Amino acid sequence: ALREKAKQALVKVRASLGNTYQPLINGEWVQSSQLVDCFNPSNSQQLVGKVGYATVEQAQQALAAAKTAFPTWRNTPVRQRAGVLRKAAEIMEQRRFELGAWICLEVGKILPQADAEISEAIDFCRYYADEMERLDQGYNYDLAGETNRYTYQPRGIAVVISPWNFPFAIAVGMTVAALVTGNCTLLKPAEQSSIIAAKIAEILLEAGIPPGVFSYLPADGPTVGAHLVEHKDVHLIAFTGSQAVGCYIYAEAAKLKPGQKHLKRVIAEMGGKNAIIVDESADLDQAVAGVVASAFGYSGQKCSACSRVVVLESVYESFMHRLIEATKSLNVGKAEDPSTTVGPVVDQEARDRILEYIEKGKQEATLAFQSPTPTGGYFIPPTIFSDVSPDATIAQEEIFGPVLAVIKAANFNQALEIANGTNYALTGGLYSRTPSHIEQARRDFEVGNLYINRNITGAIVARQPFGGFKLSGVGSKAGGPDYLLQFLEPRSITENIQRQGF
Ligand code: NAD
Repeated sequence: ALREKAKQALVKVRASLGNTYQPLINGEWVQSSQLVDCFNPSNSQQLVGKVGYATVEQAQQALAAAKTAFPTWRNTPVRQRAGVLRKAAEIMEQRRFELGAWICLEVGKILPQADAEISEAIDFCRYYADEMERLDQGYNYDLAGETNRYTYQPRGIAVVISPWNFPFAIAVGMTVAALVTGNCTLLKPAEQSSIIAAKIAEILLEAGIPPGVFSYLPADGPTVGAHLVEHKDVHLIAFTGSQAVGCYIYAEAAKLKPGQKHLKRVIAEMGGKNAIIVDESADLDQAVAGVVASAFGYSGQKCSACSRVVVLESVYESFMHRLIEATKSLNVGKAEDPSTTVGPVVDQEARDRILEYIEKGKQEATLAFQSPTPTGGYFIPPTIFSDVSPDATIAQEEIFGPVLAVIKAANFNQALEIANGTNYALTGGLYSRTPSHIEQARRDFEVGNLYINRNITGAIVARQPFGGFKLSGVGSKAGGPDYLLQFLEPRSITENIQRQGF
């Protein structure tokens, strides 16, 4: 029945392809004449829609509106702010199949994975609403004659800069966290997923977000995105995306601008070069299934994707054989086709970049397997390289495509050293039935999210708060109990209530 509903939604959404989407500023859909076409990655001839890119001047109008709206929004009772998120979650639930169809057509994600993203966004709304209500209670530590209250207040104006690979869940998660904590928020989505972000704006508007409190600014990163990052009136930047842009934002935000009287808070979550270790005691069938799903799901375009597998020598041949057999069963095709297991990559630029890495891999290692692929979209064959050296380019740089490097290790200590031997520390996995190896991985595997004897992707809100360290990010842990604190200013208020001397 679910599959039927998803199919019907796809038909309905196809009927509205080619529409134009405009920025939302101060509660109004404004006009931009700078229209950009957006094509379906599964069928690069099919126009999904046109997006009006906000100008720098329009971004400034959104900032001015946010400034005006802030005093009222910060004093709006938390119950009411949380109510907007709960209403938004309800609307997402009603529109879930339609939203999934947009994700499928705009960024080429297969329908079941697109649907999982809607669930994650709904969970973010409900979890952050509950968490903010919990934080709002503050806490008191009163002594005789003195009250001590610990409270949280919003920071001010938040800019959310989101990636295209979880175009709905991540953009929703960062945006609603900023809003429920009382910040006025400007969403600058990734260029490749501006239409899905327009749906977020529609939903928040319908859920009752007041004018000025939220603006949707589809735009180019280096111009409007950078302008917002550099602006003196911005208090907080919540970013998820590549390491290069994240590090630029981190550095830029530290520079005081004339007239700026505060430090900007940066929440930056970036890439990964995630490894799974398979030791000699692993259940190889389980390990292979986990590696294939983690490496090739959404064509490897997940920050959490497995891009390296470190296999102990004694099981290497046997693992390789099973890995290739399992990869043969993948079906590369259009994201909207129900039989597809691996869809396209997001655009021509991504395709060119990944193909370059594959060429590089052919020089550095052995090309062990490539799946057949169709034409007509931005398809890349799931690709496996074997006998990869731990310091090869394809074992060090985030490729963000369906390319897996298999690395051989002599023993478990060496495997762990190889796994930890990159600049990133996001996700990692271990397949093992050796208690001492499991214990060692728990302690020494340098990742923000470690998965033992299971698939390494799939962070669930509240259960697996998500985020990394080293150059993967500041570890803000989306979907966890610490996340909202980063959008807030904590304050302690102590009052002598003995009234002596009055
Ligand atoms: P990207 O860095 O190219 O773009 C992300 C956002 O930054 C976009 O909205 C873009 O317009 C904007 N941007 C680009 N240049 C800018 C500038 N100069 N100033 C301000 N904004 C600018 O990343 P992407 O290709 O959209 O996403 C893929 C990357 O995101 C991968 O590296 C992936 O690992 C990472 N990612 C990380 C997580 C995580 O939770 N750690 C989750 C998803 C994706």
